[in-house]
Amino acid sequence: MFEILRGLAKSKIVTEKVSKDSYSSPRCATPESSITTTEPLEGELGQKLRNRLKKICKDSLHIRYVDAGACNACDFEINALSNPIYDIQQYGIDFVASPRHADMLLVTGVVTRNLEIALIKTYEACPQPTLIVAVGACACGEGIFKEAYAAGGGVDKYLPVDIHIAGCPPTPELILKGILKAIDKI
Ligand code: SF4
Repeated sequence: MFEILRGLAKSKIVTEKVSKDSYSSPRCATPESSITTTEPLEGELGQKLRNRLKKICKDSLHIRYVDAGACNACDFEINALSNPIYDIQQYGIDFVASPRHADMLLVTGVVTRNLEIALIKTYEACPQPTLIVAVGACACGEGIFKEAYAAGGGVDKYLPVDIHIAGCPPTPELILKGILKAIDKI
């Protein structure tokens, strides 16, 4: 125990410094069709979601979320949709464990080579048509891991993506906006 503490006290560099440029937008550039701006959630966006879901999905939209090689930050933002602040369930939207119950796939990550088959199989297990939303710069074929040896490419390379949501990571509001835009395509 004391040996470890002594070693820690001696080490000069604890961790690498992160430059401000690490989060600059060019690295997170996404296709032209992508969603890049936010707007207030409650009020206009919330009301639009409620109305569209009522009209098109009979008040119910089931989402299967797939992490296809994300760093987990996009996943945390998706998780935040279920917290008491965003409370996605108030609109009739829910996450499901099985792709067989899904109306929509939310995909994050660069699609690492070892997850390619899992992603395709998940899509094949969904009832068709299924909406596909690529969440975050990595899933849109950009982002900081784009050139990584294990990165297969954006979700577009594997599945017919309906909506791209930019950001590294995108905010929960932006993700909700993307979900709304995807529903509008039905
Ligand atoms: S887009 Fe950014 S936050 Fe999302 S998985 Fe890629 S690196 Fe992580």
